[in-house]
Amino acid sequence: MRSLLDLSRDDLVGLLAAWGYPAYRARQIRSWVFGQYVEASEQMVNLPGSLRRQLADWGSVWPLEIADSRLSRSGDTLKVLFRLADGATIEAVLMLYDRRRTLCISSQAGCAMGCTFCATGLDGLTRNLTAGEIVGQVLALSSLLAQRRDLATDRARANGSRVSNVVFMGMGEPLHNYTPVRDAIGVLTSPEAYGLGARNITVSTIGVVPAMRRLAGEGLQLRLAVSLHAPHDHLRTQLVPPGRRWPIRDIMAAADEYIERIGRRVTYEYVMLDGVNDTLELGRQLGRVLRGRRCHVNLIPFNPIPGQPYRPTPDGRVRAFAAQVEASGVPVSVRVRRGVEMDAGCGQLSTRFKLESAPVALQAGDSVA
Ligand code: SF4
Repeated sequence: MRSLLDLSRDDLVGLLAAWGYPAYRARQIRSWVFGQYVEASEQMVNLPGSLRRQLADWGSVWPLEIADSRLSRSGDTLKVLFRLADGATIEAVLMLYDRRRTLCISSQAGCAMGCTFCATGLDGLTRNLTAGEIVGQVLALSSLLAQRRDLATDRARANGSRVSNVVFMGMGEPLHNYTPVRDAIGVLTSPEAYGLGARNITVSTIGVVPAMRRLAGEGLQLRLAVSLHAPHDHLRTQLVPPGRRWPIRDIMAAADEYIERIGRRVTYEYVMLDGVNDTLELGRQLGRVLRGRRCHVNLIPFNPIPGQPYRPTPDGRVRAFAAQVEASGVPVSVRVRRGVEMDAGCGQLSTRFKLESAPVALQAGDSVA
């Protein structure tokens, strides 16, 4: 099924011209799509009826639909399962902060990277997402936020009803689906489309070195996060198998190049696995690897996956590990444990949806309790 979200502005103007409509109709359509988050061309009431019907016959507005959604008990984390036109499913997680609404989105259905602690990695790659399927996740959640004003604090609402930050940390390795991800970022950052600042978008990678260099060459002010998870290659390749192809030394060189060209520090993500990568000695080694680099370490509490051997590091040892890294002068933060009770960590959402089927309705007016 074709989607309007896969058309650039010029593509849309060309399509309309072929049907005999002037270019300003494209501006009207994009205003409905990116400003009002409409799901169907029938809702674009300032268009002639004939054009609305032609658009509906041509394809859909959104290339996905919300199949299921769950709100955490605390009401600050919403996980969403999307069904794509071919039946594949992907996940997104909306995190509600005092001032921000951060949306974690997927770049692929499944993932080929095979990280051994990740539910998505266990199932392998189903397929790449199109740019429209990536942008569609943001628009669907924006629409939901516009309907469900109770999902944001007063201060967040004062900044508008939109998603304020996007992170590519859902299903998939974004740099393994480079062109659609880059095109989606182009739409999300275009003032004529979604209009999000590039500085508010984070691309998270396990370290696909050639694509990291290519991303640096785009000259966009994106945040880059690198999933490191170990300070040396022997351990890292057990957790992140593609580390055999792209060793830490090469990843660091590409990240340093990114810092130099873009001028932003890089975040190194480190999931804390009990007894696996969380000893104080490994913390010291991590500090030595990163010392002097313009970077920051984000320690991630692990969300256990049923049937897998990994367990989360106890909080006290996470703090001790952080202190070892900080002793080398590297700033460290510990990611807030959001969504633990609902398994809303990277790549763990879709599996949980397969295990449970009771839906949570998200219509306007439902309570958030
Ligand atoms: S952690 Fe990320 S890159 Fe690794 S398998 Fe899971 S989704 Fe893919």
